[in-house]
Amino acid sequence: HPYASKLLVLCSLSSGGLIAYADSQSNSKIPIVEHDDCKSQKKRVVVLGTGWAATSFLKDLDISSYDVQVVSPRNYFAFTPLLPSVTCGTVEARSIVEPVRNIIKKRNGEILFWEAECLKVDAANKKVFCKSTVDENLAGNNDFELEYDFLIVAVGAEVNTFNTPGVLEYCHFLKEVEDAQRIRRTVIDCFEKAVLPGLTDEERKTNLHFVIVGGGPTGVEFAAELHDFVFEDLVNIYPRVKDLVKISVIQSGDHILNTFDERISTFAEQKFTRDGIDVLTGRRVVNVSDRMLNMKMKATGDDVSMPHGMVVWSTGVGSRAVVRDFMEQIGQGSRRVLATDEWLRVKGCESVYALGDCATVDQKKIREDISEIFKAADKDGNGKLTREEFRDVIEDIVIRYPQVELYLKSKHLFDVTDLFKDSEGNDREEIDIEEFKLALSHVDTQMKSLPATAQVAAQQGTYLARCFNLWEKCKSNPEGPRRFRSGGRHEFRPFWYRHLGQFAPLGGEQAAAELPGDWVSMGRSTQWLWYSVYASKQVSWRTRILVMGDWSRRFVFGRDSSRI
Ligand code: FAD
Repeated sequence: HPYASKLLVLCSLSSGGLIAYADSQSNSKIPIVEHDDCKSQKKRVVVLGTGWAATSFLKDLDISSYDVQVVSPRNYFAFTPLLPSVTCGTVEARSIVEPVRNIIKKRNGEILFWEAECLKVDAANKKVFCKSTVDENLAGNNDFELEYDFLIVAVGAEVNTFNTPGVLEYCHFLKEVEDAQRIRRTVIDCFEKAVLPGLTDEERKTNLHFVIVGGGPTGVEFAAELHDFVFEDLVNIYPRVKDLVKISVIQSGDHILNTFDERISTFAEQKFTRDGIDVLTGRRVVNVSDRMLNMKMKATGDDVSMPHGMVVWSTGVGSRAVVRDFMEQIGQGSRRVLATDEWLRVKGCESVYALGDCATVDQKKIREDISEIFKAADKDGNGKLTREEFRDVIEDIVIRYPQVELYLKSKHLFDVTDLFKDSEGNDREEIDIEEFKLALSHVDTQMKSLPATAQVAAQQGTYLARCFNLWEKCKSNPEGPRRFRSGGRHEFRPFWYRHLGQFAPLGGEQAAAELPGDWVSMGRSTQWLWYSVYASKQVSWRTRILVMGDWSRRFVFGRDSSRI
């Protein structure tokens, strides 16, 4: 074992793991935790996180080939798309979480889980430094180190406040289960305060003004949930203040849901206007205090103030401290998130992989790659391609990036016969590369705008697990199961994202959905589609039944307004 000489032997094989302590030469007294006995030949994989990316990786990884340890401050997986429903009690918090130990015990083999936060990645020595998040008053040390052969960084992201003064102190966030539970309690607090005797109408109004900063999918869904909670349940139990309630959504851009199809964005704005939700666009929040929120109008530069009872800040995400520190170490300090190649390897760190919200595939390499394929095909350098050359180009691109095929087909750019016709329908001998660059720019756009969503994170986790599994198989077959036509050397296909569509629940049993192939669907039937998709996507039958039970309970009894 490469590290054996550095270790004082203290092998405790409880729970299949070995705990070894750093010797006196090392200035550290921090325990180094190993997975198996010292003779294990398996590669050690350390996974940071138990969110979408990490769990889908763990579910698909063949753990008979690896020693796997997982570190996360959360000992559960949370189904984040239903967090807005938790804020108003439509769904209970415990219905959307699955203990990570339940997930890993189902695997054939052992995965060790440590409830701890990774504080630092030491890529040069292939170690991570962790601190337990379990109650500090309990006996025992809280700090430990893990050594790895491969590190999977899937720690997600944290809320981005854009350094706006007062946001950390006075705003709520909607990122974790605890955030949703806090919001639920605060909404009830606002109502209980507003009905107390001795308040002026102005004070009651202030307490009942709910402001959402950020008109993206999370902000809009929360506004819709809150509207339903207030007008379906709370106004019946607080009838005296029902006319004083106001919900405002502040958006710096010109429209809410601006990453969705324009029809959905318009539909959402019209529905919110009908429901009495104020949509305030073109404003940037400059600071927040306990009762007041100050904004600047983007068009005129005027300052506007607004009293509030509660503010939910939902304006996007930024990197976590541990990722920022790691990026500094590896020369990516100026980036927003970790850059990886298209096999999800962190650039400049062979054995570290990053997936989900904390990483992004470096698009430049992919663009260069596709341009290279074009250049190689244009043998006489005249900027034109014959049919055969064009077919070769498409084939090469599709072998490397398989999903481009579907994409090109959907844009009618895959069929050579069509492309080689001029505007009058006559056959052409050659086409201009620049003409096809149009298709490339579409492909480019799709790659550039890879969103920070559960869908991307889960697909990346599954992809990486398959690569790790294939890797083992490739040892007995060094040429590998797949080859690139050009090189003939073994390599895995790069990660390619398949967009399966996105939903925006808008309240009042209505939703909007953008589905593959430019399909847009809106209204009540889409809400039922939303129910079925989210029920089917649950990670276990336990959570599926709990969530469906919560939905039925809400239909029959309404939402619970107790402040617990
Ligand atoms: P996460 O799922 O956030 O997981 C990160 C994990 O890392 C967590 O387990 C965390 O505890 C752990 N961690 C954090 N710090 C450390 C550390 N220092 N050391 C070790 N572990 C650490 N996406 C969709 O596709 N559809 C939706 O409808 C949708 N709705 C959403 C609604 C809300 C309210 C929110 C907040 C997000 C929503 N998303 C949705 C986005 C989606 O949740 C994220 O893109 C997704 O969670 C990213 O997955 P991830 O694995 O990168 O990170």
